Amino acid sequence: MDAMGDGETGRRALRPANQRWRASAALVLLGLVALATSGLDLDHDDRGQRAAATHPLPARAASAPARRLVVVGRSVLGRPIRATVVGDPAAPRRLLAVGCIHGDEPAGEAITRRLRSARPPRGVALWLVDAFNPDGCAAGTRQNAHGVDLNRNSPWRWRPIDPPGGTYYAGPRALSEPESRALVALVRRVRPTVTIWYHQHAGLVDDSGGDRVLERGYARLVGLPFRHYGDQPGSITGWQDATSRGTTAFVVELPAGALSARASARHAAAVLALARLGRPLALAPPPRGRLSAPATPAGASP
Ligand SMILES: [Zn+2]
Repeated sequence: MDAMGDGETGRRALRPANQRWRASAALVLLGLVALATSGLDLDHDDRGQRAAATHPLPARAASAPARRLVVVGRSVLGRPIRATVVGDPAAPRRLLAVGCIHGDEPAGEAITRRLRSARPPRGVALWLVDAFNPDGCAAGTRQNAHGVDLNRNSPWRWRPIDPPGGTYYAGPRALSEPESRALVALVRRVRPTVTIWYHQHAGLVDDSGGDRVLERGYARLVGLPFRHYGDQPGSITGWQDATSRGTTAFVVELPAGALSARASARHAAAVLALARLGRPLALAPPPRGRLSAPATPAGASP
């Protein structure tokens, strides 16, 4: 959960009013795609990352997309941060989904696990990270093993928040944490066209400051309200939307508790619908904030 004060309403002025009809057209397309993907034969085994490898879909095994496991970093306690890449890692469009960043908000892992056995559209690779905060996700704590809220530790408008031990402790400086540095390195290397960060427990799709058509479309596909949930200093999503032109990132706040199989299937289908949209963000508003990525991220801290 990320409620922390009001957002910057001024950024809404960046969104031209004449995008409305284009947004409607895109939503119609999303709806058609949803119909087309409603019969997705996704693996129903959400228990572990070996599920996809050990249980290929029989009818499609001969042409199943390539899957590989990539270690993209290490946690404070040395746990690997693993990404499962489905499809060609260098595909023209790359969709990154992160199931768990706050360790007490793990429901999204059911979606990223389910997507391991999905078939991405041609030209799309899925980069799936169950837990970017493996220590916190293992311990059920919001923060990492240093007690840092990783979603307050990015270089985007970083500032000290809370003392050590506090809920939103932002760390001693931006990118002080190995998990934060790993995710920045991953984003810079992969440049995901679309990134989805799963949180809980607000039950909404956040108007995160990226491509509103995709955000709103996702909300419609999964049946969650779409609204602005607030901007936070040091937010990962804010950093991506402010610094990675031509890409977009947004937050999905899942409801409390575990997702049902039906709900995780619906979210997985929505992810694939966005992937199919073939939308490098020609209609996207310019990034808000106009912040540039610091050359030496840690030095950007006050
Ligand atoms: Zn959260």
